[in-house]
Amino acid sequence: MPSIPILEERQAQIHRKGSAPFEMTCGKHSLAGSVSQRACVFCGSRVVLYPIADALHLIHGPIGCAAYTWDIRGALSSGPELHRMSFSTDLREKDVIFGGEKKLAAALDELIDQYQPKAAFVYSTCIVGIIGDDVAAVCRKAEKEKGIPVLPVHSEGFKGTKKDGYKAACDALFKLVGTGSTADITPVSINILGEFNIGGEAWLIKKYYEEMGIPVVSIMTGDGRVDQIRRSHGAALNVVQCSGALTFLADMMQETYGIPYIRASYFGIDDMAKALYDVADHFETHPAIMARTREIVRREVETIMPEINRIRRDLAGKRAAIYVGGAFKAFSLIKALRYLGMTVVLVGSQTGNDSDYATLRDMCDDGTIILDDANPLELSKYIIEKQADLFIGGVKERPIAFKMGIGFCDHNHERKIPLAGFAGMLQFAREVHTSVTSPVWQFVPTRAAVG
Ligand code: SF4
Repeated sequence: MPSIPILEERQAQIHRKGSAPFEMTCGKHSLAGSVSQRACVFCGSRVVLYPIADALHLIHGPIGCAAYTWDIRGALSSGPELHRMSFSTDLREKDVIFGGEKKLAAALDELIDQYQPKAAFVYSTCIVGIIGDDVAAVCRKAEKEKGIPVLPVHSEGFKGTKKDGYKAACDALFKLVGTGSTADITPVSINILGEFNIGGEAWLIKKYYEEMGIPVVSIMTGDGRVDQIRRSHGAALNVVQCSGALTFLADMMQETYGIPYIRASYFGIDDMAKALYDVADHFETHPAIMARTREIVRREVETIMPEINRIRRDLAGKRAAIYVGGAFKAFSLIKALRYLGMTVVLVGSQTGNDSDYATLRDMCDDGTIILDDANPLELSKYIIEKQADLFIGGVKERPIAFKMGIGFCDHNHERKIPLAGFAGMLQFAREVHTSVTSPVWQFVPTRAAVG
């Protein structure tokens, strides 16, 4: 394969550890012509809000913006499943010329009457920002007429990065927080933030906390319910997973309601155990919680270790590439892969900040490629150079892995199995093992040449 050049303006967002003093540019708009792997602002907001299962999610824009349906963002619900419906105002040329407010008002009127949701989120897409529809005014009117919260999400795709979509979603969520009764919430209680219940992960995590003796007031937003979010200001602590998505909300809840927050990751044995111990530590005046936590961690680790040890023997020395949305997940994945005996040769994220990349620099071995806001050509180039055996990413990274003829592990919202928690670590190890050791790769010409 011919050598793949890197665009000059992209050089500052790529670092080879150990080759030069560490300097990474990040947090800026994607370079035109680079075909970024990053999703738009609107996509960032819907990732956060869509798992709220008893709310109406209406995309105000052309039908194409609604393409990311539940089927590829499969957050599970234990009850209502209104979130699986994909509603759009389907704006056409005439609406763009004369405005889409009437169409939006009519859609809200019809959908709220038909589906009786607990709340409605209205997502603004690019064209709505351009034609200047007053979405907030339409929402206010519908809220008054229908008696449910109707929340505008200012997520016009062009106005920033995916991270701005997280912020738009948090702004909308924050309007719900504080509007419900906290009467029966105990002083030992938490909210789980940034957990979207992919493959039932939120249920696993919630079960651990409840076994520890800590009630969960709300999960934002996995298996989410509007009424739980409305009363979430009654919890004693916010436990925030994922570096980007829900931190904005945690900050706002801390400032307004005085609720402290800690960060957590539920991927990998070390980070999963640390998440539980950190929460137990927070409630240190209740020593029984820590005692129960130790027992849970001991039991869970004992259950999964025999099989993990067997898998580790096959994976020792294999090389992995990671490209994920939030860098916080990459930290856990590096640790989990090392636990399986593998080496990480490439790691990157869509939305990492200065501090995230400094952490990655400290965690990675010399020679590891660290990338911000990468494109397919860059990922392909370094996968070939580093002879990776496995690529971990999401729906947009999958075809790159298969074109390169290497194993792939979906660690994004499209997967159907839980990879979080102790049980999830075992699933992760099994999936990595199955993919990396598949005999099919020996028939791929590039891999056969590599040997
Ligand atoms: S970039 Fe704009 S037009 Fe494209 S999907 Fe996002 S909101 Fe829709």
